[in-house]
Parts: sequence; C-alpha cells; structure tokens
Amino acid sequence: MVQIITLKKGKEASLIRKHPWVFSGAIASNCESLEDGALVAVQSWNGTYLATGHFQHGSIAIRILSFVDEKFDQSFWNGRLNGMIQLRKNLGLLTPTNSIFRICHAEGDELPGLIIDYYSGVAVIQCHSIGMLQHLQEITKALKINLGDSLSAVYHKSSETLPKRLQVRDEYLYGQATTPHYAVEDSITYSIDWVQGQKTGFFIDQRDNRSLLGKLSKGKKVLNAFCYSGGFSLQALKHGASLVYSLDSSKRAISLVDENVAINKLQDRHISVVADAMEFMKDLPEAFDIIILDPPAFAKHLDKKHKAMQGYKRLNAHALRQIKSGGILVTFSCSQVIDKILFNHLIISAAIESRRNVKILYQLHQPADHPIGAFHPEGEYLKGIVVYVE
Ligand code: SAH
Repeated sequence: MVQIITLKKGKEASLIRKHPWVFSGAIASNCESLEDGALVAVQSWNGTYLATGHFQHGSIAIRILSFVDEKFDQSFWNGRLNGMIQLRKNLGLLTPTNSIFRICHAEGDELPGLIIDYYSGVAVIQCHSIGMLQHLQEITKALKINLGDSLSAVYHKSSETLPKRLQVRDEYLYGQATTPHYAVEDSITYSIDWVQGQKTGFFIDQRDNRSLLGKLSKGKKVLNAFCYSGGFSLQALKHGASLVYSLDSSKRAISLVDENVAINKLQDRHISVVADAMEFMKDLPEAFDIIILDPPAFAKHLDKKHKAMQGYKRLNAHALRQIKSGGILVTFSCSQVIDKILFNHLIISAAIESRRNVKILYQLHQPADHPIGAFHPEGEYLKGIVVYVE
C-alpha cells in the first residue's frame, strides 16, 4: 500500500523542478511509524500530487522513482530497463571489444538507490536504498526480457551497501556464474570478481579516462597509484609504455592486477607494489613521466571536507615535486563534497607549493553510462585533471 506524505508549505518547489530527493525537514506528516523502504506518494501542502518514491529514515527521507502517479509493476521496470539498455547499446558499449558497462546509475538514470553493472553476460545489482530491495524480482525479470541471450546470470550484492541489521544476503537471483569471470573493456580482457572484489567488482567509471591515458603512454615510465585491478596500467602497457608501476594498499587488488597483466601477456614491463600510496609518494624510487592518482573518496561527508582538501593537496604536491620535466599528472577525486572548481584550485595550489609550472591539458569526468541527471547536479562525482608539468 502506498502511503501519502504531505510536505510543508513552499517545500514542493524542488519536486516541481524534478529534483529526486525530499529532505526530512521538508515533510509536514508524522513519519515516525513509517518503515524504511515504504513506497510513499508525496503531495504538496494543498494536496496536489507531486511524485512517488521510497521512504527511509534519515536526512534524505524520500528518493523519487517517478513524478507520474503510476504503478511500479513489471511493465514499469521493463520500460525503464529497456530505455537504459538501449542507451548503452547506442553508445556502443555492448560490442565484441567492450562488454563492461553500467546499466543503471541511480539518480542519473532516475532510479535513486539502484546500481546495475554488466560484465559480459552477468548483471550485478547493488542497492543503496532499502526500498529497492522490494523490486529485485521485477528488475531481474526486466533484465532477462531486455538483454535476452546477452544475459546468463544476475547477482545481487547489497550486504555492504545496506545496514547490517537487515542481514541482506548476496546471491544469484538468476542463473549461476563462476568468478573470476572474464570481460573486455576497450579490447583489454579483465578478470572480474563481484563476490570478493570491491564495489561490484570493477571501477567502470574510469573507462574513457583509461583509454585517454593509453594514448599518452608510448615510451613513458608510468606510476599508477591506487590502481585496484590495474585498468590504467593495462592501457599504458598496451600502448607501449616503457615501464609501469602499479601500486595499491590492498594485496587482493595487486594480485588482480598481476592476473590482468598476465592474461593480456604484458608482464615484461610491469612492477607491482603493495604499499600505502601516501607514504610511497613521499620519496619515489624512480623519476616518472606519468603519474596517475585515483584515490578512494577522501571525504564522504561535509564535516570531513577540510581534511580531505589537505589530503588531496599533499598527495598531489608529492607527485608534482618529483615528476620528470615534461611529465604528465593524471589526478582524480571522487569525493562528492569536492566540486570541480575546488579540485582545480587544490591541484593548482599543489603546483604552486611544489614550485612547478603546470598547464591543464584535459578536464575529465565520469563516462556516458554514468549519466548526470539534469535536475540532480550532485550526481557529478568524478573529477579528473590532466596536467602538463614543465
Ligand atoms: N584506478 C582504479 C580504481 C581505484 S579505486 C581503476 O581504474 O580501477 C581506489 C583504490 O585505492 C582501491 O583499490 C583501494 O584499495 C586503494 N587504496 C585505498 N587507500 C589506499 C592507500 N592509502 N594507498 C594505496 N592504495 C589505497
């Protein structure tokens, strides 16, 4: 049963602008007894229907699934999944040379709380809202209908993203697959393990940036810090880098890189290192032409913003101080609280601090299968800068 929630007077404006969140402070109704995950219809103070979404106790109280009064039945999910999959096919992401892409990017695909990644026949669903759990069956069926022969299994992995008290079990919802599983990105084969790996098994959001890095790498000595399964390293090696270091603090990540380098027969110019990047960057063992810094989010919340800013500046200053003349720093931030302009300022101030003259060559962001909802600018989370260091 869909419950009705009334907003305070004047708080309807953001929903009329189609922003997908309702904050708890905007709600007039008493929600104390509402269960996490409940489907709710939101109305303005004077009873006008605005949208329907999932309720969850917290600062973001409602995540909107639709601004039309409709049923979330099988045909709703078939239609939404059809639109998302067609878009990815039109973007050229399902081809013999690429079988890794994101099918659903939560708010960016107008389904807050739902991530679906695709790895050559296997879809991995990750829920970031409790409400999404109630639609898993319909979502799985819609994936089967829309992907047909291109789908052999659906795995659900939300034990890490939802509260522990729910005791969500990670499991196959359709078919079975074994990990490691092999899939291709931009003609490079990767071993993917959604069961043991970080997130859904792979950082798909760096696809375009990895391809760009490849083109810059011929004959270069490259350091790929925070490498996870080594996407940047593989692109550099494939495009003729003279030597590539892959560094991560996780042993499991480094064994994945080693496996990926071996599968693609690129071992001869590769060194892998298990170390803390912050420490390693203080005194590099060699002079590098290209340094890639792709750390995990230093700040997930606003209260950590100042510390995160210092962290980015310090890390990048270490790289800028030691990189060769004529070198290239490829640096990223995926912290939502550090926006594009602030990140630019941080990198420029790191350059000033390290007394290097720099030029910005490229400003990078997330790829097209991680779209940003036009009414949800907060969805732009991945920022990258490619700087030339004189
Ligand atoms: N660039 C990667 C994704 C990076 S994700 C890709 O293209 O796939 C961030 C990585 O940073 C994770 O693998 C995590 O294990 C690693 N990490 C986290 N803290 C670290 C630290 N202090 N030093 C080195 N690596 C770290």
